Amino acid sequence: MPKAPSKPVQNPDFVATLEAGIRRALSAAMAGLTGKKLADTMGLVFELGGSTQEKITAKDPPKYAIACKDGCAHCCRLYVQVTPLEALHLARWLITHRTPEELAAVKARVAAADDATRGKGTDARTLVPRPCPLLVNERCSAYEARPFACRGANSANAEACESVLGATERVLTPSYRHQREIWSGMVRASAAAVRDVGKRPDLLELNAALRIALSFTDPVAAWMAGLLDFTPAQCVEEARAMAKPMFTTGYEKKNLGDIR
Ligand code: SF4
Repeated sequence: MPKAPSKPVQNPDFVATLEAGIRRALSAAMAGLTGKKLADTMGLVFELGGSTQEKITAKDPPKYAIACKDGCAHCCRLYVQVTPLEALHLARWLITHRTPEELAAVKARVAAADDATRGKGTDARTLVPRPCPLLVNERCSAYEARPFACRGANSANAEACESVLGATERVLTPSYRHQREIWSGMVRASAAAVRDVGKRPDLLELNAALRIALSFTDPVAAWMAGLLDFTPAQCVEEARAMAKPMFTTGYEKKNLGDIR
C-alpha cells in the first residue's frame, strides 16, 4: 500500500502517483479475492485517501469554508457511479453489518430505487432527484463503506447544492478540487485494477449495481466465480467519460466553481 505524499502540493502529479499505487495494491489483492480480503484492502484505500486529503487540505486549503456537514445530503439525491469493487464491498458491508430483517428492508429500498432510476442518465436523475436508498434521516447509513464518488463530493455552498436538484440549467457549486480529484483518482485506480485481471471495469449505477450484488449471499465469491454479472448496471455515458480526470455525475457536471 503506498503512503500519502508528504509534500503533495509541491508535486502536481500527486494524484497520479497515488492512483498508480492504489492500482497496484488493488491489483495485488485480486488474486484469490475474498470478501474479507476486499474489505481489508478497501479499508486501507479509504484510509489512505482520507489521510492524503487531510494533508493536502492543510497545505493548500480551500479558499472558502466547505459547507458539507452532518445531516446535509442534497448530493445524496443525485446519480452515483461506482466501480465493481466498490459495489461488491458496499454490498458485503451491508450483508455483514445488518440483521436479516434490516437487510431485507435495505434490499427492498434498493429495489424500489432501482425500479425508479433504471436506465435514466445523469441529466434525467438531476431533473427528478431521488434519495439514495442508503440515506436514512438525511445521513448515510453505510458511511464507513460509502463509494469514492460520495467521498469526493463537496461544496462551499449548500444552497447551491439544493438548487441543483431539479435544475434545468447549469448551477455553479463551488467545490474543493483537490478532494474531488483524490477520490476521482481512486475510481480510476479501482477500475484499472479490475481491468488488470481481465474482468470488466465498467462504471456502474449505484442502485442497479447494489441490487445485483445484494441478490447473492456472498457477492465477492459470486463475482470471482463469474456468476455475478454487473452488465445490466453499466453506466454507458459514464464509461465513456471514465478517462477524464473529473467526476461526471450530474452534480459534478454542474460543478464549475472550483475554489482551489
Ligand atoms: S451511499 Fe451514502 S453518501 Fe453515497 S449517496 Fe448514498 S447515502 Fe449518500
